[in-house]
Amino acid sequence: MKTIADLGDINNKKVLVRADFNVPLDKTDGKTITDDGRIRAALPTINKLLENGAAVILMAHLGRPKPTTDFEFDPKFTLEPVRVRLSELLGKDVVLASDTVGQDAQSKAASLGAGQVLLLENVRFNKAETSKVEEERRPFAEALAKLADCYVSDGFGVVHRAQASVYDIAKLLPAAAGELVFKEVAALSKATENPERPLTVVLGGSKVSDKLGVISNLLKLADNICIGGGMAYTFLAAQGYEIGHSLCEKDQFETALGYIKEAEERGVKLLLPIDTVIASGFPESETGEDVYEGVVESTKIPADKEGLDIGPKTVELFASEIIKSKTVVWNGPSGVFEKAAFAKGTAGIAAALADATKAGAFTIIGGGDSAAAARVLDNPKTGKKFDEATDFSHISTGGGASLEFLEGKELPGLAVLA
Ligand code: AMP
Repeated sequence: MKTIADLGDINNKKVLVRADFNVPLDKTDGKTITDDGRIRAALPTINKLLENGAAVILMAHLGRPKPTTDFEFDPKFTLEPVRVRLSELLGKDVVLASDTVGQDAQSKAASLGAGQVLLLENVRFNKAETSKVEEERRPFAEALAKLADCYVSDGFGVVHRAQASVYDIAKLLPAAAGELVFKEVAALSKATENPERPLTVVLGGSKVSDKLGVISNLLKLADNICIGGGMAYTFLAAQGYEIGHSLCEKDQFETALGYIKEAEERGVKLLLPIDTVIASGFPESETGEDVYEGVVESTKIPADKEGLDIGPKTVELFASEIIKSKTVVWNGPSGVFEKAAFAKGTAGIAAALADATKAGAFTIIGGGDSAAAARVLDNPKTGKKFDEATDFSHISTGGGASLEFLEGKELPGLAVLA
């Protein structure tokens, strides 16, 4: 994979950077950024380019605008909040173009000098950006390419997408991976290429069907696979256990049984929950206390209840493997961590990863919900927030991208940088 150094002398050159600025916004005012982690993650690349004398043109998307014409501005999805935060973090004014490849972007890009930063409006205001048809994306990619001399791919969260600003553009300009993409690939590769063993994978989240590819690829690589979260109940039900109203995908029973068998054949330890936090229904209240019903053995979930978290014995079981591991990958919360009554399992897994990190393991959080959980939950062992910098070796900025990477798939946005 080419890096910024491979672009040669970028002094006075215009460098177009695809970043991932898809940050969460406060639901009430629609403009306050509630977690600026993705903007911070882009700073090393931007600063490196600026230090080397480049003029930086950033492109990114925010949310899911639905343009009906070729280009349609929607104030709900403007990158203005990102421009404000990025200016603060860089300590310099970032200019926002009112379009992406239109007159404003063209004139602002043309007059951009070395050391200056321009942000194009949301690339998804252009219908062509996400088109599945390459011929439809190409003219947009070509218009973007005209703005700059070279291209840096730094939006790890989108490298699994064959989109104009991620994939097609890289074929039109000298292209390289940015610092973030390079760091992500290096970290995730530690799990997929000759991992230090034992390698333990902890999976959770709501659906088995979302994680099929990951499970089948990691069954070939891991020493231990711990399955929690909503997806665990499909594995329990497939073996004939009562799971009440817990999440269940009946059409995945055969696949789940197949995984259990394959794990046995390969000598992979596949661990399922041994105890479960049950509820009378899905929680509506802030904390979930209203539906909390206690902890039962996972093979004895009452028919009228549902499992919403792994219990303390399961946390202990999974933690006992995690702490013995040299490499740990965690993807997907172990329960409904958004509600305090069902967050203990997820917090316990995060704490086990933190212990493993301290003991010298390389620990990876695979983005998305598990990364959010590690940010918002307290470490039950210290009563304080986790320290993202020291408790985990790597927190991925890309949920979907890191999953596809762990599935062993070729990611178009990475393949094009080869
Ligand atoms: P995913 O997007 O598949 O990674 O799933 C993440 C979501 O799964 C989170 O919002 C959790 O609240 C949810 N989740 C985890 N465990 C359970 C469970 N036992 N029952 C229902 N939802 C769950």
